[in-house]
Amino acid sequence: MTEKRTPVSRSLRNEHGPAQAASIPSRRGSIGAAIVLLSGLVCGTLGLAGSPSEPITWLAPSPQTEDGRFTNPVGGLLNARLRTRLPFFWKRIAVTLHPRPGAARRAFEAPDVRAAAAPPLPRVTWVGHATVLVELERARFLTDPIWSRRASPIPWLGPARRVEPGLDFDALPDIDFVLVSHSHFDHMDLPTLSRLAKRSANTLFYVPLGNAALLRDQGIENVIELDWTGRGSFNGLEIHCLPAQHWSKRSLTDTDKALWSSWAVIGPDRRFFFGGDTGYFSGFTEIGEALGPFDLAALPIGAYEPTEIMHLTHMNPEEAIQAAVDLRARSALAVHFGTFDLADEPLDEPPRRFLEAARRPDSSSLEAWVLDIGESRSF
Ligand SMILES: [Zn+2]
Ligand SMILES: [Zn+2]
Repeated sequence: MTEKRTPVSRSLRNEHGPAQAASIPSRRGSIGAAIVLLSGLVCGTLGLAGSPSEPITWLAPSPQTEDGRFTNPVGGLLNARLRTRLPFFWKRIAVTLHPRPGAARRAFEAPDVRAAAAPPLPRVTWVGHATVLVELERARFLTDPIWSRRASPIPWLGPARRVEPGLDFDALPDIDFVLVSHSHFDHMDLPTLSRLAKRSANTLFYVPLGNAALLRDQGIENVIELDWTGRGSFNGLEIHCLPAQHWSKRSLTDTDKALWSSWAVIGPDRRFFFGGDTGYFSGFTEIGEALGPFDLAALPIGAYEPTEIMHLTHMNPEEAIQAAVDLRARSALAVHFGTFDLADEPLDEPPRRFLEAARRPDSSSLEAWVLDIGESRSF
């Protein structure tokens, strides 16, 4: 017998105030933040409702519900069953107290991306989790940069970094722009974004709709907020805000008040795609047809178990390979695994399954890349 799932109420929520700031110093605030953590803010504990009867078009401005919350074209969010969620939350606490083996390897020596001996441009460096440094001739940019010790609103609680960042923050080259996919704490790390803004007043921060205020509250002014299919530019590069199948939450009251997205950076010589955090969805094919083929797609491959909680808002490794094929990518870089312990699958399982899936005959034209944290590769 299955427990009845209740749709999340999307009406009568207009009374909610603005999203809460991430740093919550009081004890009461810390307890509230702990509840938020346990309700799954880090990486999703919700599924999506059933399919609409109409054919879905993803390459369009994002849909919103009547109360101004963002949603996915496939439908609204549903809670997973409590009997699945509760053991999941307990396991999250358990792995905080007793870390599991299997974290990603860190390159023996952190690369000096400014050294002449570094692989030639264009190149990508995996810093850890969903953070990559991409260096093109025309620009250097970071995706979802996080250098903090925890992906959490509370300094002493929540998923701890299992591997040091692959690049020292102070060793970064000048960063022209930053792509942020959504507000979950493992993707939007405000302390790191603030450090980047302080480091250079010229760094631009691209965020999906509804997220700019979170950055401006931290004193970051150079923010460009885009909707799906919105476009920016930098030094001859097109920067495209694109759909993802996901959700957002940073506080008890801000569920889906800010949009989530993927990003593409299109230049005359190279096309790069960043998946952010997403379930497998038909939008990959639409994006591939509109903007592909991509030279490199950085795709999330971890946080897929338990499937009842995760599978519509996160991809498993086989789905990530299929997404790369849909995107018409020449190479796919695995990210979002092995850095923070966020879900039930063994930490070292995603890269194994990713490489295995890439050996299937239908993905034989794709190169699947699993880098060590801190490793660079030309593309
Ligand atoms: Zn997320
Ligand atoms: Zn995530």
